[in-house]
Amino acid sequence: MLESQRLNYRNLLSDFFFPSFCVGCCRPGVFLCYSCLQKIHSPKSQTCLYCQGNSYLGITHKNCFKSHCLSGVFSLFNYSGVAAKVLKYAKFKTNKQVLKEGLWASVEPGIWSTMNDYLKVFRFDVITFIPLYKADLSQRSFNQSQELAMSIGSLLNIPVVNFLEKTRTTPKQSSLNFKDRRLNLLNAFSLIKINKKELVRKRILVVDDVVTTGATMSEAGKTLLDGGAREIFGLSLLRA
Ligand SMILES: [Zn+2]
Ligand SMILES: [Zn+2]
Repeated sequence: MLESQRLNYRNLLSDFFFPSFCVGCCRPGVFLCYSCLQKIHSPKSQTCLYCQGNSYLGITHKNCFKSHCLSGVFSLFNYSGVAAKVLKYAKFKTNKQVLKEGLWASVEPGIWSTMNDYLKVFRFDVITFIPLYKADLSQRSFNQSQELAMSIGSLLNIPVVNFLEKTRTTPKQSSLNFKDRRLNLLNAFSLIKINKKELVRKRILVVDDVVTTGATMSEAGKTLLDGGAREIFGLSLLRA
């Protein structure tokens, strides 16, 4: 296929998929207007998930690691009203194109190279993602965390394996306080039997769309470690 043809297809698809108004402020004409695009930022520096202190590549401090299970979490964007709206739009309109070309396209160049360092330094054996509960998945038709995991996996040529399943539906984390968030997720994941042996002694990257207190990611990490994984790192699109 000619390159120009490919571009035409791409335009055709994006016209079809993209809303003709700004997802951030509803201004007509563009999917994300210039002023809303300016409100999406990547973190200036990565922080330790558990104490919020600065940390190279988001690696968990030695002291913090003593009582926690994730070795590090890297995030691409700060949580902001506009970034959250893009994600929400993609989720509820079941529109992965919006997610990929909206947030993905607004990644600041600096964060690419830092993320690249994160992904290269630790040489992850395998990538996995936070699953949706089956009923939620069938409602939405795609899992945004899985999409992100697949993009990174194909970029780096690392296999993406679905290790986890959500055993029950859980109230929205955002509606709960810190302590209840942890309880809400307790034992909410189990390992998928047929893929189980592939995680033994592996260094695994777990991908999620939003990390706030880290309760979801930690619970997933704990489940993977219990199953025999060697080390668990996280990567999220947004960090609240
Ligand atoms: Zn706007
Ligand atoms: Zn720390």
